[in-house]
This record gives sequence, structure tokens and C-alpha cells, in this order.
Amino acid sequence: MAETIFSKIIRGEIPCHKVYEDDLVLAFLDINPLSVGHTLVIPKEPAATLDQLSDESAAAIGRVLPRLSRAVLAATGAKDWNILQNNGVAAHQAVFHVHFHIIPKHDDAGLGIGWKQRNFDHAQGKALAAQIAAAVKG
Ligand code: AMP
Repeated sequence: MAETIFSKIIRGEIPCHKVYEDDLVLAFLDINPLSVGHTLVIPKEPAATLDQLSDESAAAIGRVLPRLSRAVLAATGAKDWNILQNNGVAAHQAVFHVHFHIIPKHDDAGLGIGWKQRNFDHAQGKALAAQIAAAVKG
């Protein structure tokens, strides 16, 4: 994986406003926040996108995401929030080191979502679900 700014933050070569660290995970404030308390949670493992992340690092992030979310809400007073995780340029990923955004919602500030729903084709859905289920098994 190509070196990113997050690798430098993990190594302590670039400063960050750290809120949490363990052997596998680091969390710090986003430098261009969508709202006060916008926090990034990253694995120390250098994976560019989520599909490339090991089960161990994924589990480590999953273990702390609820706790970190509670802490961000407690510190900011927000009651609602989004978890965002972008993969690929077309999906708005700018830093190619896996990261989860915790984005509190304060009135207008926070994540804006375009949610254009489409019709569901049951025949296509049945075939697709079978395809995905087979791919999960590997
Ligand atoms: P994404 O579009 O999902 O790749 O988001 C990358 C995020 O990283 C953006 O929200 C940036 O503001 C944030 N970011 C980039 N550089 C830094 C940095 N040095 N410290 C904290 N956050 C950063």
C-alpha cells in the first residue's frame, strides 16, 4: 500500500488530536470536520480500503466504535450521529488508509446524505443474493 498521511500520524511523525489508542487502533479528530467532534477511527494496519483489512483489525475497530461513539456524544452533547466509511475515489475516499468517520449531528452541521432509492427487482435480487452469499464463503 502507498504511504499516506495516516501512516505518518500512526508513527507520530505528524501530530494529531488523539482521542484513543490501543495496539491495533488509533482515533483522532478530523482536521476538516463536518461538525464539532468529527472523529476518525483507523486501524494501524496499512490497508487502503475496508475489503483489504484483516479480520483481526476489523474486529478491533468494531470493538471500540460504539465506545468511541458514546465518548464523542458525551463530549459534544450531540444525540445523533453518522458512521461513514468511504472506499475508492468515486465513493469520496481521499486518504487511502482505511478509516471510519464518527460524525455528530448538530442542527445543520454534520453529514449530508444523498439517498436516491431505486425500485427493487425480486428476480434480480434473488440471483444477486445467491451470488453474494457464494462469494462470502469464498
Ligand atoms: P475520506 O474522504 O473518507 O478519505 O476522508 C479523509 C478525511 O481525513 C477527511 O475528512 C480529512 O479532513 C481527514 N484528514 C486528512 N488529513 C488529516 C490530518 N492530518 N489530520 C486529521 N484528519 C485529516
